[in-house]
Amino acid sequence: MHLGHASTYLLAWLQVRATGGQLLLRMEDVDRQRCKASFAEAWREDLRWLGLNWDREVAPQSTRGEAYQEALSKLQSAGLIFACRCRRKDMEEAVRAPHEAWGNYPGTCADKGFPFDGAVAMRLRYTAEALVLRRADGAWGYPLAVVVDDGDQGVTHVLRGQDLADSESSQAFLHQALGYASPSCLHAPLWLGPDTQRLSKRHGAMSLRSLREKGWSAEELLGQIAAALGYIPEPSPCHPEDLLTAYNTQPLRKEPVSHAEVLPLWA
Ligand SMILES: [Zn+2]
Repeated sequence: MHLGHASTYLLAWLQVRATGGQLLLRMEDVDRQRCKASFAEAWREDLRWLGLNWDREVAPQSTRGEAYQEALSKLQSAGLIFACRCRRKDMEEAVRAPHEAWGNYPGTCADKGFPFDGAVAMRLRYTAEALVLRRADGAWGYPLAVVVDDGDQGVTHVLRGQDLADSESSQAFLHQALGYASPSCLHAPLWLGPDTQRLSKRHGAMSLRSLREKGWSAEELLGQIAAALGYIPEPSPCHPEDLLTAYNTQPLRKEPVSHAEVLPLWA
C-alpha cells in the first residue's frame, strides 16, 4: 500500500464512520497475473498498522467468477455486449488496473457482429468507452466485477480515486442494466510523484513499508495525509478519529496532492 491508497482508505473510513455505516474490505484481485495471495495480507497489515479498521471482509474477486458469468449472460441476452477481436495486448492493458480499465475504444469491432465463441473479448455496448467486461483469455474486466460486487454486497456508498470520475455514467448504466441501484459515489484526490504521475509501484519510497522502515510512525503519516487533505492546518501526529469533525464540516479536496506538498515524506 502506498500513501495514495492510505489517503483514499482513510477518506472511506471517515465517510463510513461519519454516517454510521459498515466498511467492507474487498480484495480486488481480478487481475490474476498481478495479484498474489501475500499482497492481501500485506494490505491488511498496513491498514491495521495505520489504525484503520473495517467491519467485514467480503469475498475476493478471484472467487466470484460464477456471479460475473451470470451478469455477463444477462447483458448478452439484452444485446448490450459485442465481441471484440482487437489484439490481446490492448485487452491486457484494459484490465491491468482499475484506473486503466477506462478510456476510449476506437469502435473497431462494434458493428462487425463477431460471434461470441472462441478467444474474443466482450465489450459493453455503451458510449465510446465500450468497457471490457471479459478479456479474450477469459479474465474478468474490473468494471464488471466491481459493479456486480457492489450490487450483490449491498454497497450504498463508494469513495474512490478522482481518475475514475469520468466513467461514472458507464458504471451507472451497468448498474441499471443489471438491475442494481447505483451507489452514491465520492472521488478522492490522487497523490502524485515528482514526475507528476499518479503514485504507483515505481514510487517505491511512498510505500507504507518503506516509510515505516525510515522511522515514520502511523500517527505522523496520518498527520501528513490529514494536512494535505486540509483537515488540520499543519502536519502533526493524529489518529483517524481525530479527523471526523473536520471530515464532516469540510468539502472533500478534489485537486491532486503534489509531491511538493509533502516534501518531508520524500526526503
Ligand atoms: Zn475490437
